[in-house]
Amino acid sequence: MERHFITYEEALEIISKNTDRFETVQTPLAECVGHWLAEDLVADRDFPPFDRVTMDGIAIAYTSYDEGKRSFEIEAVAAAGEPQKTLLHPQKCVEVMTGAILPKGVDTVIRYEDIHIKEGIATFVGEKVRAKQNVHIQGGDIPKGSTITPKEKQLSGAEVMLAATIGKTELKVYRLPKVAVCATGDELVPVSATPEPHQIRSSNVHGLQAMFRQWGISADVFHLKDDKDAMQKTVSELLERYETLVFSGGVSKGKFDYLPEVFRSIGIKECFHKVKQRPGKPFWFGKHGDGTLVFALPGNPVSTFVCTNIYIRFWLYRALGITPDTLYVKLVEDVIFPPELTYFPEAKIRSLKDGTLTATVIKGNGSGDFTNLTRTDGFLILPRDKELFAAGERYPFVSYRNLGY
Ligand code: AMP
Ligand code: MG
Repeated sequence: MERHFITYEEALEIISKNTDRFETVQTPLAECVGHWLAEDLVADRDFPPFDRVTMDGIAIAYTSYDEGKRSFEIEAVAAAGEPQKTLLHPQKCVEVMTGAILPKGVDTVIRYEDIHIKEGIATFVGEKVRAKQNVHIQGGDIPKGSTITPKEKQLSGAEVMLAATIGKTELKVYRLPKVAVCATGDELVPVSATPEPHQIRSSNVHGLQAMFRQWGISADVFHLKDDKDAMQKTVSELLERYETLVFSGGVSKGKFDYLPEVFRSIGIKECFHKVKQRPGKPFWFGKHGDGTLVFALPGNPVSTFVCTNIYIRFWLYRALGITPDTLYVKLVEDVIFPPELTYFPEAKIRSLKDGTLTATVIKGNGSGDFTNLTRTDGFLILPRDKELFAAGERYPFVSYRNLGY
């Protein structure tokens, strides 16, 4: 059995080797938020597409101001949505609205706040006019043909807005797998139930479902009793209906931890069982045929949560073709951890004024204490081959929250 006891790095390598890239699918723009973009968004026009007026006011030729002119007869009005106008007399002005195309013959916009209009004459009453002020220059943001945003990123409102402006009524996004998350254990009762003294509510799978949802994946929740035959039957059915299976519990050394045996009996190949890490050592990973991946996470809530954030997120990024930047954080205090295991302690992050992110390890009462997860922001990844992780040293960090607010 010990030969299966692999390192954190080997576990990542094995998951990576067994991961296929997701397929892509065209999706209506209105349904795209939260999906992962599978095409580059490219500017179909200059940004902005014309010299755009950015203030309501008047547009003048700067040379006339420079020559000392302060009162300008209004020759025309240019509204947003009108074709480009032309100032015929350089000493006059055009009244312009935000969003209008800058008329020909003018180059500078003076806002209403800095003028006084009487009987068709606008007189400058402000302090100073700068040449070309209040004009958003054509192509000044990015030129036509350049990439606005590269693919392989989760679509937020910002990307949807940009996709709309380049005329995309639909986008190519990754088709995400159908996922089943499955609790195991006779002690578990539904969230809505009142547990007997010997029972607990099934919580892990709801956390898992929530995390999948944040990643744009809708996952269905199931519960298996610690009963080999029933497990065989249900797992076989889930294999038919889902593309990725995630289990929580039932993979440790206990008498009723039947999952590895059940997987074997229905032909799911074990890729590894047990990783040199804390928490989450009994983590099991396998594959059915050449398709469905099976992640079976140890049931202690913190173990399930760590393995999801470290390994399932890693798998997701691999399948999306993304190599995320590692986030490094600085230890506030020494951390001592002698066992030869990769250590994922829970830590709270603070952002210092100089831009440093610091991490303070906050220990709960072991991997069963998931109340601690509300006090922390994520997990440090501390390597196996050291005992002392000194204050001031920097280590990788995996966050399960938005940092910074
Ligand atoms: P196991 O990995 O099945 O030995 O479970 C380890 C511990 O995690 C036990 O105390 C279980 O009751 C608990 N546990 C397992 N699955 C869940 C779950 N879905 N929700 C909450 N606790 C769980
Ligand atoms: Mg169990």
